[in-house]
Amino acid sequence: MDPTQKPQDIELNIEIISASAEPAWDDNWNFRSYLLQNIAGPTVDQKVKEIYEDVAPKIDCTACGNCCREIYPLMTADDVERMAEGLKVTRKDFLKQTKSVDDGCVSFKSQPCPMLRENKCTVYQFRPRDCREYPHLDKPDFLAGSIGTIENYGTCPIIFNLYNRLKLSFAYDPAIDYIGDTDPELFTS
Ligand code: SF4
Ligand code: SF4
Repeated sequence: MDPTQKPQDIELNIEIISASAEPAWDDNWNFRSYLLQNIAGPTVDQKVKEIYEDVAPKIDCTACGNCCREIYPLMTADDVERMAEGLKVTRKDFLKQTKSVDDGCVSFKSQPCPMLRENKCTVYQFRPRDCREYPHLDKPDFLAGSIGTIENYGTCPIIFNLYNRLKLSFAYDPAIDYIGDTDPELFTS
């Protein structure tokens, strides 16, 4: 995080956001450990809600579309059914551009998403639930999903700005090692 960043600053430049992910990686995990050890979940959720409600409206997803270029959305059987219907193709034909992933879901084989045209989703009305809910920040229990949040820090400007602002919202000292010798994966909620 830029130490000169003020809470009201919003970074929209995706190149800067993307380039910030690797240098911020360790600190992002350290902050997650700080939250897990020091701040009650509902208090974190309330602060995330406040920041999300301020940050999200300031970011125009139609001018970004970066998640559609970098994320493989998970599609359930219901999503596939709806997408195929919306595209007026058979389910079998739709599935030709997908691959199987966990829990009976599929995702597209290619990136950027084949449904993306000039930052716009061509199946917006029928898009998968995973796309509708991304970046998954307006849900309770932020810490439970915070591994994904950190993994998407360099992809989504909403996540990037929210997480940086969250760091400024508590008495977090980045000079203190909150992880210690513990594998960060052990902090998974
Ligand atoms: S289906 Fe639409 S919203 Fe989802 S990743 Fe593809 S282009 Fe983006
Ligand atoms: S959800 Fe994030 S990555 Fe996706 S379009 Fe909106 S700001 Fe960009």
